[in-house]
Amino acid sequence: MKKEYIGMLGGGQLGMMFTEAAHEEDLKVLNWTPYYCKNIWEDNVVSIGLSAGFIEPLESTGLALMIDGLYKLQTKIADGTWNNLDKDLYNLEMQSAFEDCIDFVSMHYSKPYKDSPFWNYVRENYIPSERIKSVENTLSSKLLYTKNRKEHHVFSGANWTTWMIQMGYDVNSDSSYIKEISRKNLLRYHERIEKYRSSWSVDHESDISRVELFYELEK
Ligand SMILES: Cc1cc2nc3c(=O)[nH]c(=O)nc-3n(C[C@H](O)[C@H](O)[C@H](O)COP(=O)(O)OP(=O)(O)OC[C@H]3O[C@@H](n4cnc5c(N)ncnc54)[C@H](O)[C@@H]3O)c2cc1C
Repeated sequence: MKKEYIGMLGGGQLGMMFTEAAHEEDLKVLNWTPYYCKNIWEDNVVSIGLSAGFIEPLESTGLALMIDGLYKLQTKIADGTWNNLDKDLYNLEMQSAFEDCIDFVSMHYSKPYKDSPFWNYVRENYIPSERIKSVENTLSSKLLYTKNRKEHHVFSGANWTTWMIQMGYDVNSDSSYIKEISRKNLLRYHERIEKYRSSWSVDHESDISRVELFYELEK
C-alpha cells in the first residue's frame, strides 16, 4: 500500500477528523486502514476477497478484485498443478491490480473544492502517485479514450478520462489527430451499444437463475 494513500485514508489524525465531522453531521464512522497483502498466494493458501485486502467502497473495487483474484487463480491451476513461478506471477499480477485500484481511487481525492476540515486536510496533504501524474500529462496532450485496459489493470483509459474530465483536469479535447476511420468505428460502436442495450440487460434475479441453470446448482 502506498504510504501517501494510507496517509489520506488511514486512521490517526484523519480518523479524528472523521470523528469530528461525524459528530457534527451525525454520521456513522467506520475506521479502517486500507491494506493488501503482498503475498496473497503463500504456499498452498490463496487469499481471496477481504482476506487479500480492501481499499475502500468507492468504485466497487472489492468485488472486482475478488473476481479478478479468482479468475487469475483459475488460469494458473487449470490443469490441477502449480509451481513457484505460478505463485510469484500471481502475486505480482494481483499487486498490479491492487495498485491500479489504489491509484484510481486516490485520483478521486486529487482536486478537492470543498471547504471542510476533511477536504482541507486532503488538499494540504495530497501527494499524487506517479501513475496519476503520468495520466494527467497524457490527458493534457491528447484524449485517452482509445487506450485499452492494460493487462493486470482494473481500470481503462476510458475510466480515467471520464473521471478526470469531470474533476476539472486540463484535457486536450482536440481530436483532429484521430484517424477518420477510427472516429467512424467509434461512432458505429456507440450507436450499436445504444440500439441493443435494453435487449442485453437482464435483471439480477434472471441472471442468477441463468447461472444456476447453467452450472446445475441447487436453489
Ligand atoms: C454495506 C456494504 C456495501 C458494499 N458494497 C460494495 C459494492 O457495491 N461493491 C463492492 O465491490 N464491494 C462492496 N462491499 C464490499 C464487499 O461486500 C466485500 O468486499 C465482500 O463481501 C468481501 O467478501 P469476503 O467473502 O472476502 O468477506 P465477507 O463477505 O466478510 O465474508 C466473510 C465470512 O466469514 C465469516 N467469518 C468470519 N470469521 C469467521 C470465523 N472465525 N469462523 C468462521 N466464519 C467466519 C463471516 O461470518 C462471513 O460470512 C460492500 C460492503 C458493505 C459492508
